[in-house]
Amino acid sequence: MAKIAMTTPLVEMDGDEMTRILWKMIKDELLLPYVDLKTEYYDLGLEHRNETDDQVTRDSAEATKKYGVAVKCATITPNAARMDEYHLKEMWKSPNGTIRSMLDGTVFRAPIIVKGIEPCVRNWEKPITLARHAYGDVYKNVEIAANGPGKAELVFTAADGTEERKVIHEFDGPGVIQGVHNTKKSIESFAKACFNYALDTKQDLWFATKDTISKTYDHTFKDVFQEIFDADYKEKFDAAGIIYFYTLIDDAVARVMKAKGGFIWACKNYDGDVMSDMVSSAFGSLAMMTSVLVSPAGVYEYEAAHGTVQRHYYKHLAGEETSTNSVATIFAWTGALRKRGELDGNKDLMAFADKLEKATIDTIESGRMTKDLALITSLKDVTVLNSENFIKEIRKTLEAM
Ligand code: NAP
Ligand code: MG
Repeated sequence: MAKIAMTTPLVEMDGDEMTRILWKMIKDELLLPYVDLKTEYYDLGLEHRNETDDQVTRDSAEATKKYGVAVKCATITPNAARMDEYHLKEMWKSPNGTIRSMLDGTVFRAPIIVKGIEPCVRNWEKPITLARHAYGDVYKNVEIAANGPGKAELVFTAADGTEERKVIHEFDGPGVIQGVHNTKKSIESFAKACFNYALDTKQDLWFATKDTISKTYDHTFKDVFQEIFDADYKEKFDAAGIIYFYTLIDDAVARVMKAKGGFIWACKNYDGDVMSDMVSSAFGSLAMMTSVLVSPAGVYEYEAAHGTVQRHYYKHLAGEETSTNSVATIFAWTGALRKRGELDGNKDLMAFADKLEKATIDTIESGRMTKDLALITSLKDVTVLNSENFIKEIRKTLEAM
């Protein structure tokens, strides 16, 4: 059978450790035999980032802007231990952080649902996609410990020198003070990315803040979303048969717990940090969570939500067998191939992405899976496979289809 042709290259960002091993296996077994794969390759492995003074990360982000779709392998974010391990010139920044700030993007995380891996929340029948605003608030805070009595004030000095001043608190003893901020531009980008992604995936969009208490700060988030929605998205949402729904954050949490799923939940930075861990662990496994960075300009970068699975990699290096789950990395590829197909009008490529996802899910549902899933599945008669054989079993399922 002829391989599926591609017209535009995907930006391929290779990575580190165990996921780098899986990356090659996935390409060799599940992609290259079927697709005449066109990629522009960037090696984001830590060694090459170090050699290029991290220029390769910036180049890969530029290429993503140019072509519109990227697929990324998990990468090491260096810390002190990695400085020694890889003899680094500098403690390079997180590639995801660099790419996110260059694309001005929002990250959407969604679980991959299979029969036999049931969410802890019984009524969650469909995935809940979490969108976390990735700029500002408490993550860019300024804090002061007040050591005794005194007055804390909030001061804004405008560019023309005029001052606006408010008393935060008159302390009669020690206390703590915190200043946080956000920018209208970042909130607007976040809103657009959420509305675009909702249209793209035909899912309702929920957004929540604490605007009843935070009448200026959180209320600005609410207003920005509503203004952009009314001006540019209302008609498109009506046409797509989806809704935008705003509520208070505590009400949102209560509703999410009772919901069936199948929607996008947009969260402010802190809410998203906390809630994404709750939602992803309740859905079962980090190894079954996909992640896509969407820019307001409509550029997409797909990856797995987990890291480089360091512990498994050291076992692999020691010559021991590993059973590392490749599902989220496979879905990063299928997500990117499907989007590439959609943008290029390449139906065969889109159909292939669907098929590979189905083959992956069918393989697990037939009882063949990696150890992490075997530990939590409700299926009986499970075969636990090593990293390589799991991918080979998916290929068998694909061939049979
Ligand atoms: P990790 O890769 O997320 O893995 C943590 C643990 O979760 C593993 O030891 C394993 O548990 C389990 N796990 C995660 N993914 C799995 C998979 N696909 N299959 C089976 N089990 C899986 O985190 P880490 O090992 O602590 O971090 C390694 C590196 O990843 C760090 O250098 C960090 O900077 C980087 N990181 C990168 C990204 C990214 O590029 N997006 C995201 C997060 C972290 P068991 O050991 O119990 O089997
Ligand atoms: Mg967190």
